[in-house]
Amino acid sequence: KVSSLEPREHHRICVCVRKRPLNQRETTMKDLDIITIPSDNVVMVHESKQKVDLTRYLENQTFCFDHAFDDTASNELVYQFTAQPLVESIFRKGMATCFAYGQTGSGKTHTMGGAFSGRDQDCSKGIYALVARDVFLLLQTAAYEKLGLKVYGAFFEIYGGKVYDLLNLKKKLQVLEDGNQQVQVVGLQEQEVCCVEDVLNLVELGNSCRTSGQTSVNAHSSRSHAVFQIILKSGGKLHGKFSLVDLAGNERGADTAKANRKRQLEGAEINKSLLALKECIRALGQNKSHTPFRASKLTQVLRDSFIGQNSSTCMIATISPGMASCENTLNTLRYANRVK
Ligand code: ADP
Ligand code: MG
Repeated sequence: KVSSLEPREHHRICVCVRKRPLNQRETTMKDLDIITIPSDNVVMVHESKQKVDLTRYLENQTFCFDHAFDDTASNELVYQFTAQPLVESIFRKGMATCFAYGQTGSGKTHTMGGAFSGRDQDCSKGIYALVARDVFLLLQTAAYEKLGLKVYGAFFEIYGGKVYDLLNLKKKLQVLEDGNQQVQVVGLQEQEVCCVEDVLNLVELGNSCRTSGQTSVNAHSSRSHAVFQIILKSGGKLHGKFSLVDLAGNERGADTAKANRKRQLEGAEINKSLLALKECIRALGQNKSHTPFRASKLTQVLRDSFIGQNSSTCMIATISPGMASCENTLNTLRYANRVK
């Protein structure tokens, strides 16, 4: 495939879209694939609409991004165009962040590689593991070996505006801002890791923690943001950090009248944080002096990635291909369009 557009100038914010294949359930229900990726940065939605005389027609909408991946793209390929270009920045004292954004079931966790063990996904091939692979490779290069860096992993969840440590039995943690306006998640476990295997063990530990006490794993995990961080330290001090964020599902289902109060509150909190995230990323991209990171716990915790000249961000917006998901897909594409 050849891109129809000239390569873009370098952006600190890279926004990509990934379409997953139709799944078994959608195929059984004869759902139609309404998404095409005509070139490597264009997404088209072919929405079926009804005329007054009840005949149907297709309305096509086109969106452009830094990259668009169709349902044949591997995690490795998606990684190459999103998180991989940011990895080296953390060795140069940078802050990197990669978000997976989309409706529940669209492939966020599949992309990140955070699927629960024993399930359908081998987490050794997701973005968590791929970032870890390249961090350990770079650590051994002549340029960075002499820095004496140590690598740590942290894994937490933000649910209902509260932070829970996934490496410490889901302990609820406080977020504090010190006098220097540095944000700290107090008591967050940071475990030293020496190889990819260690990182995968942390992901697995965190995931098992995420499931505990929950009747439905998916129902819960889709309502919380999961943040996995790979941290570089030098002499005990922070050197650089890569945050990999598996965001809560952006679907609006919780707003409907039939949702119970708990679900409505969850939905409101998620909307608030995703809105705050959009505003912060936009402010970051436009070099605005004011970044409204205090508007949600998610953006507050990621503050050091939004401030600071040395930060870079990428977003992978994941979409379902089916006609039944059309509204959510369009919402995802519009959001991604706003942050790019
Ligand atoms: P989310 O985290 O956004 O709720 P998941 O990552 O759990 O969604 O994906 C839902 C299902 O679809 C999982 O069974 C997952 O393995 C599958 N899936 C998602 N993306 C892809 C893909 N690109 N290729 C193949 N299967 C996928
Ligand atoms: Mg998920």
